[in-house]
Amino acid sequence: MLDEKLEPIYADVLRRNPGEDEFHQAVREVLESLGAVIAKHPRYAEHALIERICEPERQIIFRVPWVTDNGEVQINRGFRVQFNSVLGPFKGGLRFHPSVMLGTVKFLGFEQVFKNALTGMPIGGGKGGSDFDPKGRSNGEIMRFCQSFMTELSRHLGEHTDVPAGDIGVGRRELGYMFGQYKRMSNRYESGVLTGKGLTWGGSRVRTEATGYGAVFFVERALATRKQGFAGKKVLVSGSGNVAIYTIEKIHQLGGRVIACSDSSGYVVDNDGIDLALLKDIKETKRGRISDYAAARRASATFVPAGRIWDVPADIAMPSATQNELNGQDARTLVKNGVIAVGEGANMPSTPEAVRVFQEAGIIFAPGKAANAGGVATSALEMQQNASRDSWTFEVTEQKLGVIMNSIHDRCAEVAEEYGSPGNYVLGANVAGFLRVADAMDALGVI
Ligand code: NDP
Repeated sequence: MLDEKLEPIYADVLRRNPGEDEFHQAVREVLESLGAVIAKHPRYAEHALIERICEPERQIIFRVPWVTDNGEVQINRGFRVQFNSVLGPFKGGLRFHPSVMLGTVKFLGFEQVFKNALTGMPIGGGKGGSDFDPKGRSNGEIMRFCQSFMTELSRHLGEHTDVPAGDIGVGRRELGYMFGQYKRMSNRYESGVLTGKGLTWGGSRVRTEATGYGAVFFVERALATRKQGFAGKKVLVSGSGNVAIYTIEKIHQLGGRVIACSDSSGYVVDNDGIDLALLKDIKETKRGRISDYAAARRASATFVPAGRIWDVPADIAMPSATQNELNGQDARTLVKNGVIAVGEGANMPSTPEAVRVFQEAGIIFAPGKAANAGGVATSALEMQQNASRDSWTFEVTEQKLGVIMNSIHDRCAEVAEEYGSPGNYVLGANVAGFLRVADAMDALGVI
């Protein structure tokens, strides 16, 4: 339910951003948490502060022309939504997926503002991407696309202005091609302009692992509040990309057993536990499909094409693929099967109905805004290393990530309690993120 003071703000967001359903969903979820804030501190409802936070500072849309290996000219659309820079330079990933449109990038940018605030680090929020589909494209095609994309995007970036990273469809290979093009165009070795870089060209240790590891650290801390842990638990992890792979790795290190993972073609169940070396080889090296995994592990694994991974009975679920991949029915199935915790590695993977089901069931629900903040936090650590021309060890960097995730968890828990809803990490994350952004906006005048 929305507070009556917030209803007109939401109505305005709907009116001014037609057809952008995911953006509406993300805004509504935050506004639902803010009723408690304005009841306690009415000043946050003044000076159109909330309205300003819902409006991006700048939205850039551009043409990306490129040439296939066969010499055909292709056109894609590029986006960068620079949402809020009150806490630092815009920061947030780039997504290459055919489903990307302005509303997708806006929802991701909006979420990013609060997530980045929660890390406590000096980073604003933004997001970008393109409707380019990298699947089935050659290295040469990927490179030409990335170069064309960066030719325009480079005008809007800078280590003190806007610092992108990866997201769906954008990993180290794509970031390398983009950094190379940025370097040519700017004639500067400006390491701090992108994060998620390779270790030989300015990257940070643990950045690859950070989102997945961080999500597991958050859920482990939440489980500890109920005297539980990952050890001995059966876990479902959707997706099999960057976030999913390193979620699985950390769960296995903590003694849990991931028994299923997926991609957009279906899911695999492996009751012996997912063989991570095999999964990495198929997904990171060969860029293959999840069905290849089941083909290689005939003895223990089965492939279920186009099924719902959430039908598999397990103790913990970590949705780590994409938005709205877990609906109300899936949530009811998970609860019926006895799930005790759901941790979102992806951005907004649970629909609003699914979130309600989890909250009503009283299980741990860790929203992506808080649980997957380890990726961007480690990006900020990468920026620190770039600025000081330093490079930290894996152990030092992972330890810093652990401290950050614990403090995000504790801050969300503390704020949830303060606002009368103990254990409600959705409320805690939204309110804690909002307060940091709102206080800074207020201090800087009408901006
Ligand atoms: P990847 O591209 O590495 O992997 C994405 C995975 O999700 C793939 O297995 C992909 O399958 C699957 N997937 C993507 N879209 C769909 C879809 N529409 N339906 C079903 N499956 C789909 O991306 P990441 O692992 O980096 O990102 C995953 C999620 O985590 C996203 O929500 C992203 O925003 C979020 N995130 C990522 C961060 C990072 O550091 N990378 C940081 C914070 C959040 P297929 O290959 O078949 O398309």
